[in-house]
Amino acid sequence: MRSALLLVLLAAASLHAAAPVYVVLWFDTEDYIEPAADDAALRIAQDLTSLGVRATFKVVAEKARVLERRGRWDVLRALALHDIGYHSNFHSVPPPPALYLRDLGYLDGAAEFERRESAGLQDLVRIFGVRPSCYGQPGNSWAPQANAALRHMGIPMYLDEGTHVGLNGQPFWYGGLLYVFNMGRFVLRAPLDGREPLAASYARFDHAVAELAGRGGGVLSIYYHPTEFVTVEFWDAVNFAKGANPERAAWVRPRRRSESESNRCFQILHDYVAHAKEVPGVRFVTARELLQLYGNPDPPKVERRQMAALMSARQTFLETRDGALSAADMLLALLDMKPQFVDGPVRRAASTLRDESVPRAVFERAKADAVSFITANKRLPDEVWLGSATLSIGDFAATLAGDDGSGGVRVRRANLDFEKYFSEEPRKAFDWPIHPESFRAPELLELARLQGWTLKPARLR
Ligand SMILES: [Zn+2]
Repeated sequence: MRSALLLVLLAAASLHAAAPVYVVLWFDTEDYIEPAADDAALRIAQDLTSLGVRATFKVVAEKARVLERRGRWDVLRALALHDIGYHSNFHSVPPPPALYLRDLGYLDGAAEFERRESAGLQDLVRIFGVRPSCYGQPGNSWAPQANAALRHMGIPMYLDEGTHVGLNGQPFWYGGLLYVFNMGRFVLRAPLDGREPLAASYARFDHAVAELAGRGGGVLSIYYHPTEFVTVEFWDAVNFAKGANPERAAWVRPRRRSESESNRCFQILHDYVAHAKEVPGVRFVTARELLQLYGNPDPPKVERRQMAALMSARQTFLETRDGALSAADMLLALLDMKPQFVDGPVRRAASTLRDESVPRAVFERAKADAVSFITANKRLPDEVWLGSATLSIGDFAATLAGDDGSGGVRVRRANLDFEKYFSEEPRKAFDWPIHPESFRAPELLELARLQGWTLKPARLR
């Protein structure tokens, strides 16, 4: 059955022989405690260079500073031949982002993230001489406030894995960033523990390539940590588990793999990449190259009637042949504003207006006020005032979209369909051995859903 499916997929793939499948291979380069992890990063970077493959090394700032202090210019130079991303200032030294951002709002949270993270980013810029192309959270310590901060810090892309938000296992635009995240069955690794024969890893890879090629192309995400190749336990789990905060002098080193075990792991990566590289249609790309391939999130031109029909019934993104529009893109268009990125609302408001229709003049003033707010704040308002009563932004958008131009405007209620793309598991989504025990963050998922106004699929150029 499986092989029959594979044949169908392969046949479909051959019809789309030109549809490229891009592989983004990334390494969270974070262990600043075990010096053998420095050599692991060096060996991986050099090995990939000799294979003619460029990867993306998401580097923790403290790791880069430690490499500098240890005089490991060889490691820094080898990494610099690849793309450099940012993987937080200290990774696992408490408090991690989801913990300190959980009880903050969207705007104060973004400011706090930037305050804590900008020094680390500056160190990476200084040490590598480039601005990192992307960011990804430590562990599962994701938070939506990071999006606004990263934009302000000049980082245009989010590259990681997690379940907080996702769109059919392919890249998407969210919070004004290109997200490669929650890639589902399109995240592939050849396991280093040897539990899967390499032939099986190859078969899974080939199968995913065939599926994506059959859909007109797409992205596969493969990630590792250099430290995994030389240790049998994570450097942070042995020091910072469950919120522990030992002083630097008390940090312990993780247990090491034997040299032969490490060599076996390096060989698995080498063989896996060498195989992937030879699969027809596959191209390895860096995060920075993906930004080029996906272009910008500018919305295509769409007839007002089409946007109104969707937005009056349910608020979610719209895919067209020429690209996609987020719910926010369409709300701006319906307000006759010029296309631009704006954040979603920062708070969930309930409408206080109980009437079933609104006089034309009152509604026109409310529209002008919404335009004024969005222009001034570069985000959607939580609610729009109609005299002394309010409509939540969702109810306002539905009402605006359903407005047929008659004397009284019939009030419609929101149906925020984009919210289904967000996790409803506040414990599992943030599950990470470094978070305090039983850590959950429903507040962050709620803020994330509010920003769902900005969500839409990304389209290869
Ligand atoms: Zn990490």
